[in-house]
Amino acid sequence: MPEPFDLADLPALDGDVLDDDASLAAAAQDWGHIVQARPRVVVRPASQADVAAVVAFAADRGVPVAARGAGHSPFGQGQAAGGIVLDMTSLATVHAGTGNRLVVDAGARWQQVLGASLPRGLTPPVLTDYLELTVGGTLAVGGIGGATHHHGMQTDTVTELEVVTGEGELVHCSAEENGELFDAVRAGLGQCGIVTRATLRLQPAKQRARRWKLYYDTLGDFLADQRTTVTDGRFDYVEGQLLLDDETREWRYLLEATSYFSLPDQPDEEALLGDLSFSRETAEVEESTYLEFLDRMAEGEAILREEGSWFHPHPWLNVFVPDDEVETIVADTLAETGGEDLGDSGLVMLYPVCREKLATPLVRVPSSDLVWLFALLRTGKPYDPAGVARMIQLNAGLYERVKALGGTVYPANTLPMTEKDWKDHFGDEWEKLEAAKKRYDPKGVLTVGQGVFGGSHT
Ligand SMILES: Cc1cc2nc3c(=O)[nH]c(=O)nc-3n(C[C@H](O)[C@H](O)[C@H](O)COP(=O)(O)OP(=O)(O)OC[C@H]3O[C@@H](n4cnc5c(N)ncnc54)[C@H](O)[C@@H]3O)c2cc1C
Repeated sequence: MPEPFDLADLPALDGDVLDDDASLAAAAQDWGHIVQARPRVVVRPASQADVAAVVAFAADRGVPVAARGAGHSPFGQGQAAGGIVLDMTSLATVHAGTGNRLVVDAGARWQQVLGASLPRGLTPPVLTDYLELTVGGTLAVGGIGGATHHHGMQTDTVTELEVVTGEGELVHCSAEENGELFDAVRAGLGQCGIVTRATLRLQPAKQRARRWKLYYDTLGDFLADQRTTVTDGRFDYVEGQLLLDDETREWRYLLEATSYFSLPDQPDEEALLGDLSFSRETAEVEESTYLEFLDRMAEGEAILREEGSWFHPHPWLNVFVPDDEVETIVADTLAETGGEDLGDSGLVMLYPVCREKLATPLVRVPSSDLVWLFALLRTGKPYDPAGVARMIQLNAGLYERVKALGGTVYPANTLPMTEKDWKDHFGDEWEKLEAAKKRYDPKGVLTVGQGVFGGSHT
């Protein structure tokens, strides 16, 4: 724990300084409900200058400081024991944009971004499945979605950033200007700077979405059709789920594919589906507005909030698996996975993306042309630490297996990782990240909850 500091020593700020019990308890929680690290204080910055002043203070005192977006991390990644949590949701203005650009404060949620871009007929090219995450929060990890096979990660669609470095300096960066910082911050897990503002590249938005749910009985057929559709790019969006029948303990496979269109145009169903080998009897089709499709998780969220499991522990694991190992890894994992390993509202996702579309240096994926996001989104029971610990053990076991076969993590996980694990994960990029850390956060105060330098929770 850092030396306690007196709140009166904090610099004068325009925003709020909170040390009441409710604010500290909230900042000690996240989506995971597994790690609880109480900060000394929560600051709700009112300006970029507030963020800079707080980080400069933290660096001067050697106090840990972390940005908190929507708090949807699963393992304390945005927490700062005894330190300062910057609640970035107070910096959430969506600024005026020109042409196909939009400038947003980092605490804005993707839902707000769409609220500003769609009236201009524009959309971010890639959106996460859940729109209540913040821009800063997803840019810290990458930001993957069903359109990543076309457009890369959200970090690939950002053109400029305003960043407060670990010394409290506000720096503008892009590929052309301060490129080292730009590359160290995108998917940089908050290690070298806090993003305060981002310029997003937008593209024209279609009005409607047609979504097909295509079911398969065999993993091989499902993988083959995912490979085909992602490689030829026929759909705008492709993801997939692995569904466990609780009674038979058998798995079924769901390819989720969506095409966007504007009337009077219509998707050509025969061209899109004709050569795929899904079960014709069980296929489902839905049509909605583009925004309704993007916001499809809202309904599920309301149900999970109502039944309570939204607030239960979430020992999640996301890994990237190389194409030539995916069938073996997934088949072996599913053979060992039962409902008790996923929890009542648990979910398993699997979909490929094209590596050539991923240009952010710190997004680390296997070396195959197609790489597969394999996500075991487990829900633990409340007040069952042993059960949650068992799920974390399962995560650790799968991670070791995937790593041995050339896989990497998508770092939004409940997974204890040593510094050596992170070094292996970042591979060729580790030295650059380490150098950037020394340069931009020499006191090592930024985002310690990620455990990149020094390892994470065990
Ligand atoms: C229901 C749900 C659905 C999800 N779906 C997807 C998905 O489809 N695709 C996907 O890619 N991910 C998905 N995620 C994972 C999610 O993108 C990451 O966990 C993300 O980091 C959370 O964003 P947040 O705004 O909640 O950030 P937080 O959890 O608050 O912060 C995440 C990390 O980023 C740091 N951080 C936050 N803001 C900043 C900033 N401004 N500058 C620098 N660092 C910052 C924090 O310190 C912390 O280390 C999902 C998570 C949940 C819970």
